[in-house]
Amino acid sequence: MAQEDVFKKLVAHCKEYGFVFQSSEIYDGLGAVYDYGQNGVELKNNIKKYWWDSMVLLHENVVGLDSAIFMHPTTWKASGHVDAFNDPLIDNKDSKKRYRADVLIEDLMAKFEGKIDKEIEKARKKFGDDFDEAQFRETNPRVKANQEKLDEVHGRFVKALNDNNLTELRQIIVDYEVACPLSGSKEWTDVRQFNLMFSTEMGSTAEGASKIYLRPETAQGIFVNFLNVQKTGRMKLPFGIAQIGKAFRNEIVARQFIFRMREFEQMEMQFFVRPGEEMKWFEYWKEMRMKWHKSMGMGDAKYRFHDHDKLAHYANAATDVEFEMPFGFKEVEGIHSRTDFDLSQHQEFSGKKMQYFDPELNKSYVPYVIETSIGVDRMFLSILAGAYTEEEVPGKDGKSESRVVLKLPPVIAPVKLAILPLVRKDGLPEKAMEIMDQFKFDFNCRYEEKDSIGKRYRRQDAIGTPFCITVDHQTMEDDSVTIRYRDSMEQERVKISELYKIMTGHISMKELLKSLI
Ligand code: ATP
Repeated sequence: MAQEDVFKKLVAHCKEYGFVFQSSEIYDGLGAVYDYGQNGVELKNNIKKYWWDSMVLLHENVVGLDSAIFMHPTTWKASGHVDAFNDPLIDNKDSKKRYRADVLIEDLMAKFEGKIDKEIEKARKKFGDDFDEAQFRETNPRVKANQEKLDEVHGRFVKALNDNNLTELRQIIVDYEVACPLSGSKEWTDVRQFNLMFSTEMGSTAEGASKIYLRPETAQGIFVNFLNVQKTGRMKLPFGIAQIGKAFRNEIVARQFIFRMREFEQMEMQFFVRPGEEMKWFEYWKEMRMKWHKSMGMGDAKYRFHDHDKLAHYANAATDVEFEMPFGFKEVEGIHSRTDFDLSQHQEFSGKKMQYFDPELNKSYVPYVIETSIGVDRMFLSILAGAYTEEEVPGKDGKSESRVVLKLPPVIAPVKLAILPLVRKDGLPEKAMEIMDQFKFDFNCRYEEKDSIGKRYRRQDAIGTPFCITVDHQTMEDDSVTIRYRDSMEQERVKISELYKIMTGHISMKELLKSLI
């Protein structure tokens, strides 16, 4: 199935099974704003808990924070967001559609990369074990031609970004005949800068309302509280502050579902270190974060690092963790070495010292910062994209049938246990409720009695429930139930008293956390 179709199906699945709804749908929706339904909110909460515990529980020198969305407007002057939090936008004159010029160029480069990969795959199949990829890259004329184009675009793109040269960004689009994906037209306007921050007024106009912003990232709440936390928590460097919260960006191009939203949630951690030690910690957090992603069991090949083409002027290293979405490898998390830029800026704009006294060195300085910044919603999308599976399975009368199953890591699945009485009589529902009462304190359980057992299994597969427990007449005699496993669809007869141990073996956040250290 084409990857685009997979993505469309995934979006439809999210709605049908209560994961994600368009915001204000009854009013025809609001662009790039989404609501999470009954299953979505559980999955999202589980992702957040796994991240939080991996940061705050596993690291004795990382503590949490919950700062406000509204901040003093000078915060955003100091951070550079008022002057420079821009995206280069370009309009297609025929379709009137608006795009990010940098994204159009990145898509162009991905197209060249895709062509190269295709040639290599073809050759690999043809030559089998004898295939020498390096030699093929050097000699195949089509691969060489595409690689040359890719290198040229990449070189021009990086230079244009670094020089902030909007004319050149447009020229790359024109020279490579990039067409509007919607209309196919190649008629483009100039490239302009567009600030992404939402603003509103605080206070009534009578008292002189002031313009404030909805935070475009959670990080600044951490920076301005750096000394509060350091002093009250008696924190010694190196230490980190972690925060989960909403962020808002007036994105120009709202597409790809919850990949790019105007209201979204971030999980950010700022790690404060001694100047000069930042590269060591940058490498540490890169490794730690990649381990966290890979522990989800989606397959290691689905993740890669992508170093930034353009470093922000204050950063001395930056990389993205990318996941292979149905629309290509895309950023899920950024890991940045931000030097002392943010704290120094706040020191300058507020006139308050943002320094740490280092007892070992016997001097004060502004710490350097390593940041890990991941979007909850993008993480959610990557997990769903990795978990969504359509497969043929043995059905009734020896025929095969298809099922849709979300192969979610059991620890983060929205519902852990579905309890299903085989029939709605003979005391089976009451027995099933008894089991539910026993387990509801430990696991998110769901009780279902409607429809055939087969249909109920399929419904649970579709939301990724790892275990279904069936209560039948034998249960009434010997307190045994069948446990049906989502992925293998195997069934096993076990005593109710054994259930807790079996389940915790598979769905322990503790075990998953242990795998990270
Ligand atoms: P992009 O280049 O895709 O716009 P970014 O580099 O601006 O992303 P950061 O500012 O580094 O993103 O934000 C950190 C993380 O926050 C991203 O890796 C992503 O997971 C998430 N994020 C950023 N913007 C959005 C958005 N509009 N919708 C959903 N998640 C977002």
